[in-house]
Amino acid sequence: MAASVPEIFGSMVFDERTMQERLPRETFKALENTIQEGKSLNINIANTVASAMKDWALEKGCTHFTHWFQPMTGITAEKHDSFISPAGDGSVLMEFSGKELVRGEPDASSFPSGGLRATFEARGYTAWDPTSFAFVKDKTLYIPTVFCSYTGEALDKKTPLLRSMEALNKQALRILRLFGDTKTQQVNSTVGPEQEYFLIDRNLYNQREDLVLTGRTLFGARPPRGQELEDHYFGSIKLKVASFMRDLDNELWKLGVLAKTEHNEVAPAQHELAPIFSNTNVAADHNQLTMEAMKKVAERHGMYCLLHEKPFEGVNGSGKHNNWSLSTDTGTNLLEPGDSPMENAQFLLFLVAVIKAVDEYQDLLRISVASPGNDHRLGANEAPPAILSIFLGDELTEILKCLEQGKPYSQKDKEILKVGVHTLPRFPKDSTDRNRTSPFAFTGNKFEFRMLGSAVSISGPNVALNTIVAEELERFADKLEKSKDFRKDLDTLVRKTIKEHKRIIFNGDSYTDSWVAEAEKRGLLNLKTTVDAMPHFLDKKNVKLFAKHHIFTESEMHSRYEVSMENYSKTLNIEALTMIDMANKQILPAVEKYMDDLSLAFTHKKALNPKMNCHVEYDRVTKLSELSASVYDETEELKENVSAAAAITDFEESARAYKETVLPTMDALRTDADKMETLTGASYWPFPTYADLIYHV
Ligand code: ADP
Ligand code: MG
Repeated sequence: MAASVPEIFGSMVFDERTMQERLPRETFKALENTIQEGKSLNINIANTVASAMKDWALEKGCTHFTHWFQPMTGITAEKHDSFISPAGDGSVLMEFSGKELVRGEPDASSFPSGGLRATFEARGYTAWDPTSFAFVKDKTLYIPTVFCSYTGEALDKKTPLLRSMEALNKQALRILRLFGDTKTQQVNSTVGPEQEYFLIDRNLYNQREDLVLTGRTLFGARPPRGQELEDHYFGSIKLKVASFMRDLDNELWKLGVLAKTEHNEVAPAQHELAPIFSNTNVAADHNQLTMEAMKKVAERHGMYCLLHEKPFEGVNGSGKHNNWSLSTDTGTNLLEPGDSPMENAQFLLFLVAVIKAVDEYQDLLRISVASPGNDHRLGANEAPPAILSIFLGDELTEILKCLEQGKPYSQKDKEILKVGVHTLPRFPKDSTDRNRTSPFAFTGNKFEFRMLGSAVSISGPNVALNTIVAEELERFADKLEKSKDFRKDLDTLVRKTIKEHKRIIFNGDSYTDSWVAEAEKRGLLNLKTTVDAMPHFLDKKNVKLFAKHHIFTESEMHSRYEVSMENYSKTLNIEALTMIDMANKQILPAVEKYMDDLSLAFTHKKALNPKMNCHVEYDRVTKLSELSASVYDETEELKENVSAAAAITDFEESARAYKETVLPTMDALRTDADKMETLTGASYWPFPTYADLIYHV
């Protein structure tokens, strides 16, 4: 009989349950304490844990272990070591020491460091992050780790995330104490990331050089049928896809990932997976595992999983909705409106802290989702625009307005709402959301940050969110801790914050041009591309913010800026070279052949009868000749522009050159090539079309 889901769930994870079973009581307690207090592990405890972990892993068939880390590339990295150790008599033992568990030295000099390691130390080390459980995958024991240089600089995405969670915890606790909460010991940010993806046929995928090399189509005319019928969203799931989803759930459950909801998305061949939320560090690890599992399971089912933010032009792109909230170790969601006046006051204070944070650090949130792939989504009429704004819903917005202006809220019997004195009217959850166009929406008891592209690591956006909210909470706490009349000062603070930051609240349709104009009037930022957004990372206020909360040193920020800009240039470089290759080797020869056949037909028909109507042949060849010439010229121009951009040594200037000269030429080349596709016989076209790719799963 097949194992039940509760039996399968977490079966490959060295989780709390397993630790309790397998570790001596004192070791388990000591480990728990270290985890809670974030201290480093005593070597004796580490040895005991390592030995228990190894025995458990060997029972699962493991031969190797790996320190699993998240370099700045945004994906994960691992180096496998086997457990073998010579016994002296020619045989081997399977060993794993506490030292090996706690610290590793990957030869990681080829990971991007943005100059960090070059200036300090050639190699970095990995260190166990016991707040995320070890697990078994592919006969290997995976140990989640942070990745640092020997001088302590973070070379990865996990370290700053952990630091930001700590900063938020510290400031949120100060606020809770002000409200008389003495029980809560820990506040965690929680995240549930909804992951979108495309599934296409594996054989068709292999026939497209652009998909294989860049993850997106660089050519392709729109199919006669797009997503206009809107029948795919939540539509019934094809058998093949359904069996993929079942398999995927199973893989993820074994790894302790709370995969919950699977459904079709807006575009044909597009789907979504939503997990149940967990603390942000675990959510980030699990989202990486989810993306990996999607790719692996798709292959088993004869399909390919595309995680690119915009695999198809003119078809909906893929995003990742980052549902974010704050949760106490006593199980309270701090973004949940409460029943008593004081609970409500606390809710309002956290709410306005987020509003103020988003308004003051629009740039950081925008930067946290910036990538060349996401540039194709943000601002197109399908994804939230590059402008940050907050959706609160009409009711909550009205309540804030009444609070600010000291006007009675209609439902409150003409009484003026006072923070800390009155309760909030109950607003049903449904009245809060369903505006899908907002980049940052309050959805009843959490915020949904919707600007993330599907491929991004959720670490960056959550580092930004955690830190900017920690900053506002700190400023609030600094003020209120000195207060002589808490209620009065709280009321004043909430009202003042609403007044100063309400410009960021927008409940309308964010996809319209009128909003772009309105946002500009309100003084909101509109950083359209990665190249426009990234330089603001190093703005004084941002460097100050991250340094103050010990998230990034200035040199760590420089390194991230450099890595991100270089990644932009490298991505465009690969895309441009792939286009040149496809145009020269596939598209132009195919069209040439078609024109040749048409010309032959023309000559043959004329030979039969000089008066024969050869309008079709003549017309087609004429048009295609013109277009071929343009495609050829544009390919040559692209070559020159790429060489010129690549030759620029300054990484900022180089990225700008890619954006300003390479990208427009790529667009022009594509437009003409796509026109040729619509005029060329199907059997001549050298690779699968959009209709093949998105309707033939
Ligand atoms: P929808 O967005 O379709 O309305 P839900 O509101 O049920 O769906 O949840 C969407 C995502 O938000 C899920 O991944 C869910 O786990 C997550 N979520 C729910 N509550 C929280 C919370 N307190 N903190 C973080 N994420 C949450
Ligand atoms: Mg949602």
